[in-house]
Amino acid sequence: MIDLHTHSIYSDGTHTPTELVAMAGERGLRALALTDHDTVAGIGELLAAGQGAAVETVPGIELSAECGQGTMHILGYYIDPASPALTAMLAKIREGRATRNVEILKKLNRLGYVLRWSDLEKHTGKDVVGRPHFAEVLVERGYVKSRKSAFDLLLAKGRPAYAERYHCSAGECIGFIREAGGVAVLAHPATIHLSDTKLRALVGELAGQGLGGIEAYYAEHRPENRKKFIGWAEELGLLCTGGSDFHGKNSPDLKLGTGFGQLRVPDEVLEQLKARRDQSDTLR
Ligand code: AMP
Ligand code: ZN
Ligand code: FE
Ligand code: FE
Repeated sequence: MIDLHTHSIYSDGTHTPTELVAMAGERGLRALALTDHDTVAGIGELLAAGQGAAVETVPGIELSAECGQGTMHILGYYIDPASPALTAMLAKIREGRATRNVEILKKLNRLGYVLRWSDLEKHTGKDVVGRPHFAEVLVERGYVKSRKSAFDLLLAKGRPAYAERYHCSAGECIGFIREAGGVAVLAHPATIHLSDTKLRALVGELAGQGLGGIEAYYAEHRPENRKKFIGWAEELGLLCTGGSDFHGKNSPDLKLGTGFGQLRVPDEVLEQLKARRDQSDTLR
């Protein structure tokens, strides 16, 4: 079993990369990828923790791409964290987040939710500050009963405390990942909220832009979704990857590796991913 989708304290998870590697070992995982949102800051620690460990560590990232109604995330595996193009793009995203976060805070305060930066700082990750952190503070303050209600009531797109931030297009995300030597994978395709016909067309389009795989194995995918995505991947010559999207205490019912209990990402996915990386090396 392997897990190719996890978050650490460098974004919105609650464990350090070192702890994730140890937990993966305890759970008998063969490999673990760290895919923090919009940051490579945890990769150094991940690789150091992987030295001499039984678990093979895979450097990764999860980028949020521009998308109409739903959520589109692009995973990047085996990226070079020092890639200048990727670094510049991440700096732009960070600036966009900073501006957007001030706006969210103002909106919340105007709506009568009295929060200060100092409340947020206790919860924020080492690198990326996002809406999940606002949700935690709202729960802590007793304004809402769960993270989910914080989103449903206030923070989700279209809700009163929502503010837009800068996103790259999916094609740009794929380009930056490939330029950094990585393999780009469409994360949890079901969250894009498109009809099958439109989603299939989108995946085909992204494949034409250099997408290497789709995340068919995912904790929240129903078996019929998994089968559908595996079918599309075969048709388009894409890889099928998978992971739990573990966030530690921020996703309390979900386990590393097994997700909600049913998830099993086959070991051979790791070899296929490496083969894809080596293949893109020769393309560049
Ligand atoms: P941000 O990048 O700061 O806009 O925050 C995006 C993150 O917030 C996502 O990766 C999810 O973890 C979380 N999120 C977004 N929408 C929802 C929602 N409707 N319910 C719960 N969590 C959400
Ligand atoms: Zn997250
Ligand atoms: Fe995601
Ligand atoms: Fe994720």
